[in-house]
Amino acid sequence: MKCVYCGKEYGEGGTTIKVSNGTFDVCSNECKKLTREYLEKDERYKTRSYLLIFCGSVGFILSTFVFTGTYKLVPMYIGMIIMGISLIVYPYIFSSFITFTRHPIKKMTLMVRIMGLVIAVLSLWFLIAVFRQV
Ligand SMILES: [Zn+2]
Repeated sequence: MKCVYCGKEYGEGGTTIKVSNGTFDVCSNECKKLTREYLEKDERYKTRSYLLIFCGSVGFILSTFVFTGTYKLVPMYIGMIIMGISLIVYPYIFSSFITFTRHPIKKMTLMVRIMGLVIAVLSLWFLIAVFRQV
């Protein structure tokens, strides 16, 4: 069996966690607790993280249709910084139980956070570059 939270393969001594869309294997009570916490946070912050992603998309729209000239891409970069930060703070958006069967929660959360950090840092760097050119 494979733990849905930490991804560890285990033979015996594990337990299971029941959620709305099925029952999943967890290797220990610790992982069970963390999975439950994760699901609660996921539930609680889902709307908020979608809202942040939406704010980020507004930046893309502004850059594409509204802004022109030197500052054309500024709203897009700001939007991407918002998106990146929202991924770091709320890494729940890209994960679901469908992906958990292939990637453990622990790994997914870390991957999404790193992705968010890369997006935020790169966008900030591009943003600074725009203002340096002026
Ligand atoms: Zn585990």
